[in-house]
Amino acid sequence: MFWKLGLFLDERLESLRRVIQALGEDRAASRQQRQALAQFRCHVCGRKATRPYVAPDQPELSPEERKDYNRPGDLSTCKRCGKYACSRHIYRYKGELICKSCGQDILKG
Ligand SMILES: [Zn+2]
Ligand SMILES: [Zn+2]
Repeated sequence: MFWKLGLFLDERLESLRRVIQALGEDRAASRQQRQALAQFRCHVCGRKATRPYVAPDQPELSPEERKDYNRPGDLSTCKRCGKYACSRHIYRYKGELICKSCGQDILKG
């Protein structure tokens, strides 16, 4: 009876240890991932990317594996100059994504 309870507690502790370990790894990874994302900025206002690019649903990949921290999820690439711009500084122009500064060039132009 008592040995069974002991075994049960051991298992509980072991799974708790695994959870804590996973959390620690997650935090360490996310700091690196944030640093990777911070290199991507809107070239108009300097806003940093905060979210990774997420690939479309693929059955063989977990939600975490679909995230690509080498690509920003909340910045778009300007079709004209190729630079990143945030949602406030990118516009759809004739079906293409154009940043604010290129938009001004086009209007002047
Ligand atoms: Zn911006
Ligand atoms: Zn542009």
